[in-house]
Amino acid sequence: MPVLDLNSVILSSIGLTFMLVLVLLVFGAYQQRALVMRWVWGMLLIGLGLSIYFIPDVFALRAQHELYVSIAFSAICLGLSVYVNGIRMLRGYRIYRYLSLLVLTTLLACNAILLNMHAPLRVILLSNFLVMSWVFAYGSRSLMGFGKDFISHVFWLCCSLFSAMTLMLLFMMFEVALIDAELLKDFQHWSAHAYMIATIVMVLIAVTCLLLLVMNVRTQAGLQAIATLDGLTGVLNRRGLQDAANRMQAVSQRIKLPMGMLIVDLDYFKKVNDVYGHLVGDAVLKVCAGTIHSALRGGDVIGRYGGEEFCILLPNTGEHESAVLAERIRKTIETTPVNIAGIESLDVSTRAIKCTVSVGAVSSETVGYQIDSLFAAADHNLYQAKQAGRNRIASNAHRLQASDEAKPVKRNASVIVSQ
Ligand code: GH3
Ligand code: MG
Ligand code: MG
Repeated sequence: MPVLDLNSVILSSIGLTFMLVLVLLVFGAYQQRALVMRWVWGMLLIGLGLSIYFIPDVFALRAQHELYVSIAFSAICLGLSVYVNGIRMLRGYRIYRYLSLLVLTTLLACNAILLNMHAPLRVILLSNFLVMSWVFAYGSRSLMGFGKDFISHVFWLCCSLFSAMTLMLLFMMFEVALIDAELLKDFQHWSAHAYMIATIVMVLIAVTCLLLLVMNVRTQAGLQAIATLDGLTGVLNRRGLQDAANRMQAVSQRIKLPMGMLIVDLDYFKKVNDVYGHLVGDAVLKVCAGTIHSALRGGDVIGRYGGEEFCILLPNTGEHESAVLAERIRKTIETTPVNIAGIESLDVSTRAIKCTVSVGAVSSETVGYQIDSLFAAADHNLYQAKQAGRNRIASNAHRLQASDEAKPVKRNASVIVSQ
């Protein structure tokens, strides 16, 4: 007497499959409906296939056993291929729409021919197992993880589970191919058969739960990114900037490397709004953020500090390099007019607006690593640049020079303003 009897296994598997469909329907109601519906249809077809598998035993239709087995296998393989298409959609891979159709027609044609030829059960089982193991292998290839993050590890786990299913089916094929014809007649009641169906259903449930977890993790990461980004310009918002500044400060201080900071403010921006309207003002802000971003080096961080002010965090950057970068940004903005053609504006003849910026630069070399001190000093230097006439930069670079030359620093000349 086997530990698991096939009918109980099939019955509970059908129940579990439909429970999973219910969970997926609820999940799909609020997230990635198109993708989740592929899994719903896949699981429904698998459930249907299992129910067909159940029919000959329950209704004592032993004579048409091969027919029911082949229809059941076709439905299960079709369900699996629809399910795998859902996985490919989650991964952002190309979906072969006709994959499911190909699997179905191959199986149906194969089974119809074999049944017509009164082929032995062994041949029917082998051809069906072959197609099913191919679908699992294809799914396992689609589940391969890349990278070392949490999501990649989850994908690797799912990939391993699908690969184990492929191996298990190949093992079953060997057993079916080699076993005595008399024993094969009782294939329905092999305990290995019951174990196989139970394992496949459990693996599908586990993989579905893990993939739903991946979707949740991704959604959370997306929300986290949105919460730290500025809606208009796409750079970090004040909160994101503060987090990035804290992280950079901790690392810079630990490895004893200087950290620079720039505050860039658009000159006479109120006038842009007053003359051309807020729509143009918004466009100018967006373009300027992009222009500044393109002038930065890899590793530099830009965020929107206030209305028309941007703050730039510079890892491994001293006073002198901060001033050089500030000047580069000033010059880039000065020489890159903002194209406003096509934007609704008061003056239709204006196609481009020339903008300028003032920049306050500072680094930890002169004010230390405290984030508040860096912000205050950069703000102070920006004020000095504005006072000196705008379209210029101000930094503490000369202070460093003065201390290098062992000269006393003059209190009233704390800022170099240059254009
Ligand atoms: P200054 O050279 O001294 O910096 O002069 P300013 O006109 O640039 O500075 P001020 O602080 O007087 O005005 C800033 C303006 O920026 C006022 C505000 O309407 C505008 N502003 C702030 N945020 C936005 C925004 O998101 N979109 C638009 N269109 N304008 C904004
Ligand atoms: Mg301004
Ligand atoms: Mg301002």
